[in-house]
Amino acid sequence: MKKIIIVGGGAGGLELVTRLGNTLGRKKRAQITLVDQNTVHLWKPLLHEIATGALNDQVDHISYQAHALRHHFTFKHATLLNIDRDNKRILVSDADLIALGCEQTQVELEYDALVIAVGSTSNDFGTPGVKEHAIFLDDQNSAIALRQTLLSTFIGFNANYDCQSAADKVKIAIVGGGATGIELASELPHMIKTLNAHGYANLGTQMLDITLVEAADRILPALPEKVSAGITQSLQNIGVKVLTKTMIVKADELGLYPKEGEVINADIIVWAAGVKAPDFLNNIAGLETTRNNQLIIKTTLQTTRDDAIFVIGDCASCKQENGQLVTPTAQAAHQMVSVCAYNIEKSMQDLPLKKFKYNDKGIIISLQDTAQGVVTMVAGKKLYAKGQFAMLIHRVLYRLHLGFVLGIIGCVRFTLATRVVKRVKSTLQLDKK
Ligand SMILES: Cc1cc2nc3c(=O)[nH]c(=O)nc-3n(C[C@H](O)[C@H](O)[C@H](O)COP(=O)(O)OP(=O)(O)OC[C@H]3O[C@@H](n4cnc5c(N)ncnc54)[C@H](O)[C@@H]3O)c2cc1C
Repeated sequence: MKKIIIVGGGAGGLELVTRLGNTLGRKKRAQITLVDQNTVHLWKPLLHEIATGALNDQVDHISYQAHALRHHFTFKHATLLNIDRDNKRILVSDADLIALGCEQTQVELEYDALVIAVGSTSNDFGTPGVKEHAIFLDDQNSAIALRQTLLSTFIGFNANYDCQSAADKVKIAIVGGGATGIELASELPHMIKTLNAHGYANLGTQMLDITLVEAADRILPALPEKVSAGITQSLQNIGVKVLTKTMIVKADELGLYPKEGEVINADIIVWAAGVKAPDFLNNIAGLETTRNNQLIIKTTLQTTRDDAIFVIGDCASCKQENGQLVTPTAQAAHQMVSVCAYNIEKSMQDLPLKKFKYNDKGIIISLQDTAQGVVTMVAGKKLYAKGQFAMLIHRVLYRLHLGFVLGIIGCVRFTLATRVVKRVKSTLQLDKK
């Protein structure tokens, strides 16, 4: 039986492995394996809500092991280290063997077709001090670490309230005026209000000093000016300072240092700028990669140097026929899934493959209590949506992802379960602060 390995169970990888499991795996036409360094899937666009306690990571996740059982694939809790293309094997570090304390924890897994879907991380562009002093919002562990930092800082502020002057504030600097930075900034005042409602009576939004820093001349530079102006206004309405044309050249324990101007003092720094694929992908196994470590692929989603290796999602550099690169979004990762599944099956039968064509449907930025967005309709016309309608689209995107992974009934059950738990348990998870 042919062996198909998918590395990375994120926005793209989990949808792909579910589809392949339900088709090839169920009919025993191929042995499907998912490899991920984590044991659960959390949809990445929700990370800022995990970080601010608007969502509960213990509930809003899918267990890979349980999901594998229902969808005819096997799950390996391991981290990809290298690829041996000559012998069609990958080298992984096996988390179960590490947990058992074994001496030899690296194992090899054989494949006939391999899919790399390991996503991306923020890019600090080598800025001195950023690694040491900033928190990145790249995965579930960093989102949980940020939530714990925020909770302990806010609760400490509440406890020391009597020793502080009215001018004392918690200073938070967020670098990156893209969707991640904007959504995170807008969630923070809401987090304070929720903590206040939980009995931390000295906390109020006036004790927050949030600065959003962007190097370009406006936030969301790739979107129409009308959208960035509207979102800047919404952020300012909730007390967020928006600093544009501000290039950060250094960070330390005091805060951020712009190329020009004064230090931006910060108790907490979050780096949400830039995107690059994980460093270990750089020239891995002699495959062609970009400066940002993305694997260069053909429109069939196969790597340029090896047809047995497919790449989807943020770690793929895919040039379209119009010369434009596909943007690294959950939307693009999702669209790649059906073409990748089709091409894997056809490549096993030596049949012609399909070309991937990205259909950019725009971006939705969801701000707490308000939302603005741009959606490109299938016909290519632009729809500018704002308020409740845009908020609804944002929620629907997550439900669509759940629908593809869990099916309609599974999605309804999952939604009901998370609603019930939300009613009886605080999403802030104060017991874990
Ligand atoms: C806060 C935030 C908000 C966002 N909002 C939006 C939005 O509104 N709309 C949108 O379209 N996009 C949004 N994005 C971007 C979107 O999340 C990504 O484009 C999308 O998740 C990429 O999917 P992926 O499958 O390529 O990778 P991911 O979803 O990142 O999954 C990668 C998987 O690979 C695993 N992995 C990584 N390295 C290894 C390894 N060495 N071995 C084994 N496993 C590994 C990880 O554990 C993870 O499960 C947002 C991102 C963030 C951080």
